[in-house]
Amino acid sequence: MPGQEVERLIALLARLPGLGPRSARRAALFLLKRREALLQPLAAALHEAATQVKTCGICGNLDSLDPCAICADGARDGSIICVVEDVAGLWAMERTGQFKGRYHVLGGVLSMLDGVGPEDLGLDRLQERASQPATREVILAIGATVDGQTTAHYIADRLASLEISVSGLAQGVPIGGELDFLDDGTIGAALRARRLL
Ligand SMILES: [Zn+2]
Repeated sequence: MPGQEVERLIALLARLPGLGPRSARRAALFLLKRREALLQPLAAALHEAATQVKTCGICGNLDSLDPCAICADGARDGSIICVVEDVAGLWAMERTGQFKGRYHVLGGVLSMLDGVGPEDLGLDRLQERASQPATREVILAIGATVDGQTTAHYIADRLASLEISVSGLAQGVPIGGELDFLDDGTIGAALRARRLL
């Protein structure tokens, strides 16, 4: 039986998405065999992330800066806000290199089942940003799941009274598709062909 420290490492690794107890044991062994090449740098990176990465108070992005580098970048177009479900969606949009506006990270989607309401997604903050005179467009880049579409419609309704365009990614985003799983070309095409809601 592995010692207490190793058991603890395995138990924590097993909580990562996509890793069960079996792959957690393999990962732990892999790391322990590569102490200097991998385990120590990983431990340092985890420590750095834990102490330095914060959530941007404006958009919800993760960065060591608050406001994040995207919100602080004066070269980006502040008149367009792209609403994404989570930071993975933001990264997916950034990978396309085709979006030069700013973001709002929801941190989830509305869900009756999971008890996620509008107040959990920072929608007041989004509405406030969307109401600012500089804002011209809000793009809803939310996955085509049932909850994602419910959320997109809810947001579109809330923003309907504002004098801005509210658009959604074009079809081509497969049903149930989450942005992070799409290739960059598909996201880019869906962004260019976005439709008004
Ligand atoms: Zn930000």
